[in-house]
Amino acid sequence: AKKMLTRKIAVMGYPCVGKSSLTLRFVQGEFPDVYDTTIEDLHQKNYHYNGREYNLRITDTAGQQEFSIFPRSCSVDIDGYVLVYAIDDRKSFETIQMIYEKVIENVGGSKVPLLLVGNKVDLQHSSRVVPQAEAKNFAEKWHARFIEVSAKDNLGVRNAFEGILDEIDQSRGIVKPK
Ligand code: GDP
Ligand code: MG
Repeated sequence: AKKMLTRKIAVMGYPCVGKSSLTLRFVQGEFPDVYDTTIEDLHQKNYHYNGREYNLRITDTAGQQEFSIFPRSCSVDIDGYVLVYAIDDRKSFETIQMIYEKVIENVGGSKVPLLLVGNKVDLQHSSRVVPQAEAKNFAEKWHARFIEVSAKDNLGVRNAFEGILDEIDQSRGIVKPK
């Protein structure tokens, strides 16, 4: 049998940005109607990508406020971080910058595989408050990948998780097949 590559991914961000919706959209293929946003959940999914079999272990965190302590579940043994804000929530974008700093502090070094995700892009015409260019700037500074998605409309969700897999593999020198 082909070797399974285990990848542990933490999904972090301010409450209500859609961390759980994004995770469940990817893992179960559906947008949850009602979901307790205050709990932390570990999800598993086997995922075929780039000709490889991945065993994904995704920690959907309870959410972090600016003064939250860094969750234990995210401080050890995580291969990559998905940092989520909502494009209609300024506060969530400011908080993601603090979460980023805490990740770097806790994990050490600046070579942590990171993906910055702006969720709720379906609201961009009615209530966007975080310009795409602004988020892009931060991502570049952080050497992180950046993508806008909608868990609700299922836009970019796979790309997001594939993006963090690419970042993790790149950091290990695993070459992406053409
Ligand atoms: P979490 O606290 O970060 O886990 O956020 P949830 O996944 O529980 O979602 C918080 C709220 O945002 C819920 O009412 C979701 O239905 C809503 N939501 C999540 N993703 C999207 C999205 O892509 N677009 C829109 N419009 N709403 C979303
Ligand atoms: Mg949640």
